[in-house]
Amino acid sequence: METADVIVIGAGIAGASVSYELSTHGKVVVLEAEAVAGYHATGRSAAIISENYGPVLWSRLVTASRRFLAAPPEGFSQTPLLSPRGALFLAREGEHAALTRQADALARRGAFFEVMPAREALAHCPVLRPDQFETALYEPDCKDIDTNALLSGYIRGLQARGGRVEVNAPVRSLERSDGVWRATTPRGTFEAPVVINAAGGWAREVSSLAGLSFRNVVPFRRTAVLFNPPAGYEPSSWPMTFDVAETFYFKPEAGRVMVSPVDMAACEPCDAQADELEVALAIDRIHRFTTMDVRAVTHKWGGLRTFAPDHEPVIGPDPEQPTFIWLAGQGGNGVMAAAAAARLAASFAAGRSIPQDIAALGLTAASVSPGRPCVIDAAAGTPTVGCLAAFQ
Ligand SMILES: Cc1cc2nc3c(=O)[nH]c(=O)nc-3n(C[C@H](O)[C@H](O)[C@H](O)COP(=O)(O)OP(=O)(O)OC[C@H]3O[C@@H](n4cnc5c(N)ncnc54)[C@H](O)[C@@H]3O)c2cc1C
Repeated sequence: METADVIVIGAGIAGASVSYELSTHGKVVVLEAEAVAGYHATGRSAAIISENYGPVLWSRLVTASRRFLAAPPEGFSQTPLLSPRGALFLAREGEHAALTRQADALARRGAFFEVMPAREALAHCPVLRPDQFETALYEPDCKDIDTNALLSGYIRGLQARGGRVEVNAPVRSLERSDGVWRATTPRGTFEAPVVINAAGGWAREVSSLAGLSFRNVVPFRRTAVLFNPPAGYEPSSWPMTFDVAETFYFKPEAGRVMVSPVDMAACEPCDAQADELEVALAIDRIHRFTTMDVRAVTHKWGGLRTFAPDHEPVIGPDPEQPTFIWLAGQGGNGVMAAAAAARLAASFAAGRSIPQDIAALGLTAASVSPGRPCVIDAAAGTPTVGCLAAFQ
């Protein structure tokens, strides 16, 4: 039996970041089911940060995370965590109002952007078929995130403060008695007064293990495809390119091009795989909206994105058991918003008030609470399939 001050379940970006934040206050042990950290959603993301992506509260956590990513603490990473990318959002005829809403929201938040006729977007992404779109919004401050450097930085920092990650340690039972949680794994039993649920697509399963009632936080599969650009194309400087209607995005990835048909298929938590139909759709969208010809797919994968019904963060103490702290429901914002989400979750775990910069952005304990009606109410139904919350 090993004792700690906090047990964190899951060593994706959520578990790694919150354990780093909490390790200044006590001993933290992270229990990870897989043989390596970051094996599931974290290792399968498109790895960008954009101020124009996701629902309102996640967007605010993105804003609050940017400073850490741009200037991490001394010694956190040998290499920069961010590198230039840029993002292009394309609107077809009839979608101008949606683009204008995005532009207004970016302006309110002080983010840089430029709106232009689709033809001018060719200067940023020369493979577009501009006749398919009317207008484009360019966000220059969208960056690539070095997810591996971010994850390793958090884990190294945790270890330097006496914490550790136990891999191959799926939590099989989780019981509380005499004021202490006991997590049983094939690597032994671990004890701590506080548990953080950072189990990604398995967050609901972990809360069931803890004996809590139904919680509406569930995973959806997304497919991604990598292909070689045709000869003569040099994609490295192209932006991450989305359509406003959310039917595709593509971006350069180490000399290749990654494309997703932005599918959102309800599924059980699992080692997600690419869906063949979605692979075909992704390729079709490249053919329809760009001048690229996809000859051969070099790699394809699936990943889980986990949502509450309102797509907003599920961060804070469980209403039935306040020593069980949620850090879940990251959807498509989990890497870019990890730094602030971790500080927020750590403040709940340590019984402190919400960090000032995050509170100043309008986040309250109630707005992200796992006790809010849509999360605890089975009758609220599952999160909407195929529809991201509106950009704010
Ligand atoms: C195709 C795709 C593109 C994306 N693009 C972006 C992007 O550009 N930017 C961005 O910010 N986000 C993006 N995301 C979303 C992002 O990847 C996730 O929000 C984020 O990785 C979630 O991190 P996590 O730590 O919560 O989950 P995970 O990385 O899945 O980690 C959860 C961990 O918990 C472990 N676990 C589960 N149950 C147990 C148990 N019982 N015992 C022990 N361990 C357990 C799992 O093994 C897993 O390692 C994308 C996702 C996908 C799929």
